[in-house]
Amino acid sequence: MLKALLEAFKNLFKPIRTIDYPARDITLPQGYRGLIEYDKEACIFCDKCEKVCPPGAIVFYQHPEGEKEYRYNPWVCIYCGECVRACPKPDEALWHSETKQSAAFKEDGVNTEWFEWEAACKASREAYKAAKASAKIQNKSEE
Ligand code: SF4
Ligand code: SF4
Repeated sequence: MLKALLEAFKNLFKPIRTIDYPARDITLPQGYRGLIEYDKEACIFCDKCEKVCPPGAIVFYQHPEGEKEYRYNPWVCIYCGECVRACPKPDEALWHSETKQSAAFKEDGVNTEWFEWEAACKASREAYKAAKASAKIQNKSEE
């Protein structure tokens, strides 16, 4: 007990090793992987980024007309860079910015919205697949 108190007292006079982020800004190290940026104009919608993402931070919504809509969750992202590595158009369609992730607080409710979005994306794909399959059957029966 006395040893622990002594250690705690000694630590009071040692330099602080932690940074009060995000209250204080930090200098980014070289090669820092920040938030993922996306450009729809350059994207070829191959879905590779979505498939390789370990935590599922990128999902595409499938519109019935065929168009896909990108969505990214920075609070789910682990900044591994796999999506950028897998992208056939790195630095054009997908890249790491130097923008830092902002701190998420419980009251933000960020993931509640995300889970709803994920479920909607899954449902949109299933509906799209089913519509395509049924159109195929109809075309065959008309032949
Ligand atoms: S950096 Fe990693 S976790 Fe983040 S979106 Fe890309 S693949 Fe997913
Ligand atoms: S991997 Fe790149 S090109 Fe393919 S869907 Fe993702 S952002 Fe678009």
